[in-house]
Amino acid sequence: MKELETLQTWLDESRSTVFFGGAGVSTESGIPDFRSVDGLYNQKYQYPPESIISHSFFKANPEEFYRFYRDRMLYLDAKPNAAHRKLAELEKAGKLAAVVTQNIDGLHQAAGSKMVLELHGSVHRNYCLKCHKFFDVAYVKNSEGIPRCDACGGIVKPDVVLYEESLDGHTISEAVRYIEQADVLIVGGTSLAVYPAAGLINYYRGKRLVLINKTPTPYDHSADLMITGKIGEVFSQIRV
Ligand code: NAD
Repeated sequence: MKELETLQTWLDESRSTVFFGGAGVSTESGIPDFRSVDGLYNQKYQYPPESIISHSFFKANPEEFYRFYRDRMLYLDAKPNAAHRKLAELEKAGKLAAVVTQNIDGLHQAAGSKMVLELHGSVHRNYCLKCHKFFDVAYVKNSEGIPRCDACGGIVKPDVVLYEESLDGHTISEAVRYIEQADVLIVGGTSLAVYPAAGLINYYRGKRLVLINKTPTPYDHSADLMITGKIGEVFSQIRV
């Protein structure tokens, strides 16, 4: 494929490549995204998923929140796929500066990536809302109903950014810094529909913006190189 050759050349010539991804990066690991036809938003729940994973819903209805969250957002058996693995290899070889991700599944780190900026937090970190004690994901997964702090009895909340919550300022500014300095920016597996994360693309100043996605996005017209396809399959063909 001609597009793949161009991507390979751009990667080979790049001094600073940054990858910016979303839920589509993990679908080949068996974690559903939100907006695909078989994504979470097209399945039926008692409440729309976008309501359940909001701050106000968590406050008003934590038990229902956790029912959905444990069932549909924790995939502890999922393994990194070819995209996660190739990105980690590129970083190790000094060819990738950072991964900026909207994902909360920790699969980039599981693949060995070190510089990962998690815009929406991680299911692997959980804190007591009262005393801030840390809990791992197994604690949340194995608890019943609302997970409670074993030290003070407070409610334990995942360190993930729910709708209506703001993103961490330091993570955002680091992501902006990396994207501004990138000479190649690869954006993949994201519908680019969730703000402010999607707006980060606007900080890129170079002329080698690569979009890899299965379906069209609102930014397709801005891409210097469009690759339509599965991101794991694309990255498996990249040479480090
Ligand atoms: P999204 O569901 O809105 O969009 C996913 C996009 O990826 C779609 O355009 C889809 O066509 C594409 N896609 C799916 N599988 C693909 C593949 N194998 N190769 C290439 N493209 C593929 O996801 P989003 O843009 O990341 O926004 C949703 C929000 O949901 C994010 O903020 C994220 O925090 C959260 N989320 C995270 C996870 C996770 O951590 N794995 C899973 C679901 C949702």
